[in-house]
Amino acid sequence: MAKVYNFSAGPAVLPHAVLAEAQSELLDWHGSGMSVMEMSHRGKEFMEIIHDAEHDLRELMRIPSGYKVLFLQGGASLQFAMVPLNLLGGKDSVDIVNTGHWSKLAIKETKRYAKVNVAASSEDRNFSYIPEESSWQRDPNAAYLHYTSNETIGGLQFPYVPSEQHGVPLVCDMSSDFLSREIDVSRFGMIYAGAQKNIGPSGLTVLVIREDLLGKARADIPTMLNYQVHADADSMYNTPATYPIYIAGLVFKWLKEQGGVKGIATRNEEKAGLLYHVIDNSQGFYSTHIEPPFRSKMNVVFKLKDESLDEIFLLEARKNGLAQLKGHRAVGGMRASIYNAMPIEGVKSLVNFMQDFARQYG
Ligand code: PMP
Repeated sequence: MAKVYNFSAGPAVLPHAVLAEAQSELLDWHGSGMSVMEMSHRGKEFMEIIHDAEHDLRELMRIPSGYKVLFLQGGASLQFAMVPLNLLGGKDSVDIVNTGHWSKLAIKETKRYAKVNVAASSEDRNFSYIPEESSWQRDPNAAYLHYTSNETIGGLQFPYVPSEQHGVPLVCDMSSDFLSREIDVSRFGMIYAGAQKNIGPSGLTVLVIREDLLGKARADIPTMLNYQVHADADSMYNTPATYPIYIAGLVFKWLKEQGGVKGIATRNEEKAGLLYHVIDNSQGFYSTHIEPPFRSKMNVVFKLKDESLDEIFLLEARKNGLAQLKGHRAVGGMRASIYNAMPIEGVKSLVNFMQDFARQYG
């Protein structure tokens, strides 16, 4: 069994069963006599692996026909440039909702290629909320509207999918809550996610893109950045991240065994509920500035009243088998990332530790 409960924001905990299966197949995948790492990406074994991974992902997310699934590289960060380079399609402006660190990076990169209209921002109150949708200032001529469904560092999550207006497609950076709750894919033009939270190892970026958005890239785009090129080649234009795709496929199978996205979403609600309950009932020993409807179910960000206890909290937690709880340097404090693969036992163990710690030092 795992030695610790790992609350890292990413690369993050993977299901134990997936790691055990990968271990058992490491040297010899299904009698092929080869490790997946050694296989040609165009051989029949790997073709089966990538085909099954896509098939299972489509089933899990109920991806409608008319959408392509792409397995790319370069992280979610490369999408900050690839999205405008591919989707402007002759337009010159983009709507972006600013909810924190990752939206800001998307804005910064998009500005290199387009005018950015910040349709809404919660910076005025330290990114503690999602601005009411009716107050957004949308541009009806925007090429698309980009938002970040879950701000991994800030711990702020959209409780809903924004509406599409004026036919402007929605583009979502879903890196840190992909597959964590049910969504209606047909409401999106494009969804992208770096793999290293809810999908698998880093090195893989998964895209789900509506086919009518392909083929709009600007003419001087580098070949490797062109969605159409990757779509036409079924993610095999060049050598894809074969081993991460294989592990992602195992994670998708595991997720199906957990009752699919619906099943895991219920557990995710329960896990987050346990943590926020302890924070809210600690008489201020722990606190979070995120307003209740927008608190992330994936990254629970909180502070200790007395910052001088941070180091000892982290040391004691580690002694209790609770690892990687330190908050991002940009916000400080603590962050418990409780992605799909974090078992409820891990959260219960953290909750017990937090209560004991508060009793001892409060
Ligand atoms: N967007 C979000 C919401 C993220 O959490 C991250 C990574 N933590 C990124 C983008 C950047 O991802 P990558 O490191 O894969 O480029």
